[in-house]
Amino acid sequence: MSRVYNFSAGPAALPEEVLKQAQEEMVDWHGCGMSVMEMSHRGKEFMSIAAQAEADLRELMAVPANYKVLFLQGGASSQFSMVPMNLLRGKSSADYINTGSWSKKAISEAKKYCNVNVVGETPAGQFTVPAADSLQLNADAAYLHYTPNETIQGIEFPYLPESGDVPLVGDFSSTILSRPVDVSKYGVIYAGAQKNIGPAGLTVVIVREDLIGETIAGTPAMFDYQIQSEGESMYNTPPTYGWYLAGLVFQWLKSKGGLAGMAEINQRKSAALYAAIDASDFYNNPVEVNCRSWMNVPFTLADAELDAKFLADAKEAGLVTLKGHRSVGGMRASIYNAMPEAGVQALIDFMADFEKRNG
Ligand code: PLP
Repeated sequence: MSRVYNFSAGPAALPEEVLKQAQEEMVDWHGCGMSVMEMSHRGKEFMSIAAQAEADLRELMAVPANYKVLFLQGGASSQFSMVPMNLLRGKSSADYINTGSWSKKAISEAKKYCNVNVVGETPAGQFTVPAADSLQLNADAAYLHYTPNETIQGIEFPYLPESGDVPLVGDFSSTILSRPVDVSKYGVIYAGAQKNIGPAGLTVVIVREDLIGETIAGTPAMFDYQIQSEGESMYNTPPTYGWYLAGLVFQWLKSKGGLAGMAEINQRKSAALYAAIDASDFYNNPVEVNCRSWMNVPFTLADAELDAKFLADAKEAGLVTLKGHRSVGGMRASIYNAMPEAGVQALIDFMADFEKRNG
């Protein structure tokens, strides 16, 4: 069996080493005679797996002691509701920066619970983020929410929004673990797992302790950070296998030099791909240079009639899931942590060859 280079935006490729380790441990984990999938979440084996994964994530991200790390279900989309439910704390409004498709979804969900002030916005059809000094922040907002990396548009914030005393909330789904981040600047960091953490079905939430404990009336127990935190993310049966695989990914990241090591690799990978696109008249990336994502690289072909051929030929060459999101068109190469540099080089070589044959 030969594995392809999978450029999917999510669920995305996992490191091959992690998949092989999981395969070896699949049927009989560490001689205990059963698979992790079959273990009680309250048994000592799974408890050790869960604790190790949390400790490794804390180490990788240098999570300060006054933050809880939760391993939940429901995807990043459930955080679109959980954030207002838990963070409004008696206030009636929250600030949101709207930079694209995922910001919009977060905003429309938050509107069910509070007044949403859109304090900065990417104009329709543009691929940029609002300037830091243009944000119209409100001192009485319950929190400021933004999307550091817009997975669909391929836009990444080149700066950290300064929200003063207002807690900053980041939807890190498609950029978490791609580089070091100063967790202490945030009230909440959340991410669906299926890009840089592990399989879909797991959601990681990192939340400052003092923001936990007051929810709006009617908040379901499953959506209450305090209940989830007191229950060590085991209020109900957690997504055990996803949690275990995330733990293997965290160990893999540590073996690669942690997030500083990953950042160097990711910077090189994305720079090489953007350089190839910029050097050609045949390919184009629409994103303003200083906001180009390290993780999701959308690009178009000079002639959209060639899109289908490009995808078919790429697949033939072992490069798959390059079709762009329907709202943007063209192509999108998602090059998360698990995409090796050789995969990006294979794509660059294929693009040059395709241009030669069809340009
Ligand atoms: N936020 C961002 C930035 C995403 O990229 C995605 C999924 O691609 C989501 C939220 C939604 O995640 P989930 O499917 O885990 O709810």
